[in-house]
Amino acid sequence: MSLKKDLLFADAHLHSNPINGLGSENIARRFKERGGWFIALVGLPPTSLGLRPDLEGFTKSIEMLLKECEKLRNLKIRYSCLGGFHPAMIDKMIDVYKMSPEKVFEISMKTIEYAVKLVREGLLNGLAEIGRPHYKTSPEHIVLADTIFDNVLEIAKENDLLLHLHLEEGGWATVYNVYLKIKRYSLNPWRVILHHNRIKNLKPAIYYNLISTVPAIPQIIENIKDLEKNYVFESDYLDDPSRPGRPMYPWEIIDNSLNALRNNILSYEDLYKIHVDNIIKIYNVEPP
Ligand SMILES: [Zn+2]
Repeated sequence: MSLKKDLLFADAHLHSNPINGLGSENIARRFKERGGWFIALVGLPPTSLGLRPDLEGFTKSIEMLLKECEKLRNLKIRYSCLGGFHPAMIDKMIDVYKMSPEKVFEISMKTIEYAVKLVREGLLNGLAEIGRPHYKTSPEHIVLADTIFDNVLEIAKENDLLLHLHLEEGGWATVYNVYLKIKRYSLNPWRVILHHNRIKNLKPAIYYNLISTVPAIPQIIENIKDLEKNYVFESDYLDDPSRPGRPMYPWEIIDNSLNALRNNILSYEDLYKIHVDNIIKIYNVEPP
């Protein structure tokens, strides 16, 4: 009996680039062939798609995401389609495109308004990536990101928004701040997902009952093996031909999960919870 036949696999956060990359159809087809049943497809910022980071560029990039998601419908793979305003765009818009912080705020809010409208229409399933830059940058850019973040959280409840948060790796300080925000806006923690958590953020996230996506890299899987399985795996695949296979291909999640099972790092039950039960609960999808 092959282990692979019994298990199904999910990628809880990946990107597709229809201009230069493999595109959603190729990615999903290969992932499904290997045992994949679900992917959460997250939009790329306009600058990754040859567009300017103005309102038109953001709108077009979200429309491209919708088309990428549309292609998945015919492949009979379950999916979630997430778009919005990436906090790393703030630096680019101010430093490279010389926009004022007020202009960046205006564009970000209009982009989010558009994304929320698409969620209401059932075309998008949630917003990503929302939050703060993960790298060192000027304080005023971080406070602007945090203002946008708070505004999104404020409208999240009434629209039952699923959110993927992009955050700095500040461990307790980051996670406690997010925990307080989730409480302040009375949000369901199963709808506000901390994306790209490694052990430093994951430990406090589990302590505060927050849900995470975790890069399914062997070293990380090993490091977190004793923690409660309040997370799902992601590749965060960028589909950028200048960085092929970075950070990892979605199907490497499958290889790494099966290796963890063979080496008794994760049990069958652990994998079922990570790849199926938690996915159903977060993304509100029908079971496989
Ligand atoms: Zn991402």
